[in-house]
Amino acid sequence: MTFALPRVGVGVDVHRLEAGRAMHLAGLHFPDETAGCTGHSDGDVVAHAVCDALLAAAGLGDLGANFGTAEPEWAGAAGATLLSETARRLREAGFVIGNVAVQVIGNRPRLGDRRVEAEAVLSDAAGAPVSVSATTTDGLGLTGRGEGVAAVATALVVRRER
Ligand code: MG
Repeated sequence: MTFALPRVGVGVDVHRLEAGRAMHLAGLHFPDETAGCTGHSDGDVVAHAVCDALLAAAGLGDLGANFGTAEPEWAGAAGATLLSETARRLREAGFVIGNVAVQVIGNRPRLGDRRVEAEAVLSDAAGAPVSVSATTTDGLGLTGRGEGVAAVATALVVRRER
């Protein structure tokens, strides 16, 4: 029996929080938040970490290499848009996406009430199951002090048999 070995990848992202910016996280908008993540995109650390994990698993580099200055048309793209394009590039390179798990680290926004909604949006963008969880750091570090939001993702992909 022949089978392709699965490949895993990890992705980490951190963005600074700034008062008065719109909060976009995990493919969702949180209109009640008074601060949002900075960045030349919508600052969606969750989507970015998922993209990096997928690209790493496939050996296709990282977010900066794929959507950096060489491809200015992606500057400012929404997180879910970057994720669908990342997934498309993996499939084009011959990979099937198994699943992605991503954990958000930060005080705000509270994701619990909208976790299922976030999973639906991200899974739709990736074309594969994306599970979302959240944690805090007991007031410690940049996320604990509310200076930023972080996310860590793990992806599993398999190269399609040729
Ligand atoms: Mg980012």
